[in-house]
Amino acid sequence: AKRIVIKIGTSSLLYPNTSRLNLRAIERLAFVLSDLKNQGKEVVLVSSGAIGVGMGRLGLNRRPETIPAQQAVASVGQGELLGIYEREFQHYGKSVAQMLLTRDVLVYPQSKKNVFNAFQELLQMNVIPIVNENDTVSVDELDHKTKFGDNDQLSAIVANLIDADLLIMLSDIDGFYSGNPMSNPSAELYHTVTSIDASIIQAAGGRGTKFGTGGMVTKLKAAKRILKNHQQMVLANGKNPRIIYNILAGEPVGTLFA
Ligand code: ADP
Repeated sequence: AKRIVIKIGTSSLLYPNTSRLNLRAIERLAFVLSDLKNQGKEVVLVSSGAIGVGMGRLGLNRRPETIPAQQAVASVGQGELLGIYEREFQHYGKSVAQMLLTRDVLVYPQSKKNVFNAFQELLQMNVIPIVNENDTVSVDELDHKTKFGDNDQLSAIVANLIDADLLIMLSDIDGFYSGNPMSNPSAELYHTVTSIDASIIQAAGGRGTKFGTGGMVTKLKAAKRILKNHQQMVLANGKNPRIIYNILAGEPVGTLFA
């Protein structure tokens, strides 16, 4: 795999059920991704966490309820988050770019083309694009006109758009199980999933943590998009980002959707 999209969830960036940054995980992530760049790979990071980080910065212990408040908190957190990435990646001599996307990239061909060109240019310049949804523009209205829904699906859309060889989705769980392991201890890990059918969707429960967003459902929607486009996705535990090395070495970690 040469062109890789990595999506990291809030649950891997913050300590469980808090809005406190897991600096060790972030530092390791920056190390691994920078090292991959040195191996000649093209790397795009899709990072969640803006709302959680914003909550930490503003001293809130509950996710705000109204959309405007969520947008405000997200924009505080997004700035801080990018600042942290900027610092961590700079440590390894790497440059990052902030790319805030809206559903426009799917709706308008010209927007799609512009975004594609920007990605190409950044990758050519050896920069690591860091993608998130533009929360202050995208409103989660009923019709979902402007919103991707979540970063799981956004990461698949980005992987489609730039024709990535692999999407690596890092979460707080070892992979996709036959049921939610948090509530069903006998659930078993699927090593490979080749299609998203009704029985697979049934196995997916909601989010595990207060700060995680989509749970498994949105990860399966992302996988569906990836499979439809004949691409590959691995869902794995982001507790230690070095797992990315194991994934790229083809070791059987996590769940492979292919
Ligand atoms: P992230 O913040 O990494 O996107 P989420 O909390 O949104 O993570 O989603 C991961 C959670 O999904 C897991 O911690 C787990 O509790 C839950 N989950 C529900 N169903 C499943 C399943 N079938 N297999 C694995 N995890 C599941």
